[in-house]
Amino acid sequence: MNIHEYQAKALLRDYGAPVSDGRVVTRAEEAKSAAGELDGPLWVVKAQIHAGGRGKGSFKEADSGEKGGVRLAKSVEEAAAEAKKMLGRTLVTHQTGPAGKQVNRIYIEDGSGIERELYLALLVDRQTSRISFVCSTEGGMDIEEVASSTPERILSFSVDPATGYQPYHGRRVAFALGLKGGQVKQCVGLMATLYRLFVDKDMEMLEINPLIVTDGGDLKVLDAKFGFDGNALYRHNDIAQLRDETEEDSKELQASKYDLNYIALDGEIGCMVNGAGLAMATMDIIKLKGAEPANFLDVGGGATKEKVTEAFKIITSDENVKGILVNIFGGIMRCDVIAEGVIAAVKEVGLKVPLVVRLEGTNVEKGKEIIESSGLDVIAADDLSDAAEKIVKAVKG
Ligand code: GDP
Ligand code: MN
Repeated sequence: MNIHEYQAKALLRDYGAPVSDGRVVTRAEEAKSAAGELDGPLWVVKAQIHAGGRGKGSFKEADSGEKGGVRLAKSVEEAAAEAKKMLGRTLVTHQTGPAGKQVNRIYIEDGSGIERELYLALLVDRQTSRISFVCSTEGGMDIEEVASSTPERILSFSVDPATGYQPYHGRRVAFALGLKGGQVKQCVGLMATLYRLFVDKDMEMLEINPLIVTDGGDLKVLDAKFGFDGNALYRHNDIAQLRDETEEDSKELQASKYDLNYIALDGEIGCMVNGAGLAMATMDIIKLKGAEPANFLDVGGGATKEKVTEAFKIITSDENVKGILVNIFGGIMRCDVIAEGVIAAVKEVGLKVPLVVRLEGTNVEKGKEIIESSGLDVIAADDLSDAAEKIVKAVKG
């Protein structure tokens, strides 16, 4: 689960990390008084969406001003005016995709004078199963770009969980970032704080880009992107409450309520599959046959008819879906349950696109019988390759 920058900064503030004072607003009328509570003489007005690259992003609407989603203002009035231009508009960045994201919140912050922009992240390294620090002198930039063009400018190392964070970890970061004098001590303290926050809250990712050296020579967190382990949220009520469902894909949100493993993609073939491995293989073979999957969907082993119905409804609600492939290898999951779920869903929402069904395994005959006797216009398939070929042909002609 991800949270907004202003929420991440509130957590950082609680833990004693250096962040600027700021106020969040959801209505343009609030912006002036919010900005007035800050000291100035510089204000930063920041669109709050769950995506990075806001500064270099652009708005879809003509009346939203020409600058991106991070704007500097020299007066309270100017800050309020910039907030007004962004609220309710759609910000497109390289992370939002072409559809962009609607800006429903604005964070107005005390502006900082910047001497250097640095990059810092903590994440769970799957290779070592440890928490890793990643840092670079190339802050404020796209880190993927730095990683591919100048990988030598990124330092990464993991922390042994038996010792936990030690001051030498912080000094390693400080020297890699070229920090001097009192900054080294600040860095050692800040890294300890970030590590503690990361572990306390079961985080998956903590990215600060940029971490800055201010014109006064101090370290400060200027941007913060936090991701939390969804499986651990049950023990962090405070974090769970920060969830902003308006930032999430509505179909993925609906799927999570039914405990379905669903990820929206941007192809044209909707897939309903059981088992993550088979789901991946199905996506691969759709691509191999010349089309693109519209989603990843694993209905799981013990899916009920209701769950299958819901899954089918989620797939058909996607307007990009031009055809559906149901690919089930019944083991624990029974083919007749799948068949019943599909029929129930079609009765409820109708079927406007071609549907290919491939059933194999437990109760396959019963499943096929249910579909045949339903009078549904289903294209039957015998194996995975045949099924993929048929749905691609039905969609692409
Ligand atoms: P992002 O574009 O979504 O990553 O948003 P950031 O919060 O990282 O802001 C983008 C850029 O705006 C930063 O890299 C800075 O160069 C600039 N910026 C953000 N806050 C301030 C500030 O307080 N003062 C100044 N001078 N620049 C800022
Ligand atoms: Mn940033």
